Amino acid sequence: MVGRELSGVERRLLSELLAHDFSGVVALREQAVAVRARAGCTCGCGTIDLIVDERVTVLSEAESPVPVSGEVSGIDGTAGGGLILLLEDGRLGALEIYSYEDEPLPMPEPAQVTWVLAADADGAELTADG
Ligand SMILES: [Zn+2]
Repeated sequence: MVGRELSGVERRLLSELLAHDFSGVVALREQAVAVRARAGCTCGCGTIDLIVDERVTVLSEAESPVPVSGEVSGIDGTAGGGLILLLEDGRLGALEIYSYEDEPLPMPEPAQVTWVLAADADGAELTADG
């Protein structure tokens, strides 16, 4: 098999993200069951590429990146950042952590992450003013 198992933190972040409702999420939840990972970046950050089992044929119609993203709060003076889920041809593609500053960030602990659903996503509870 290619790649490695997701770490506990990666698995939990992915499932928390996919616990939100948006168009196409059901297919992604199905893909996530047996998804594997490999390092997705060489800068030192915790970004991972996601590898969906090729036997999983259900594709998602969600946009990439998906409309749920994480705001990552810095701890102990480290920079904050963001967490986004990228798709490739309707499949889970990468879970990307980016920093607001130069310093690369590791994959954050779930407690550092505040999930935000884009206001224009299907099924969003937020309604735009006016
Ligand atoms: Zn990186």
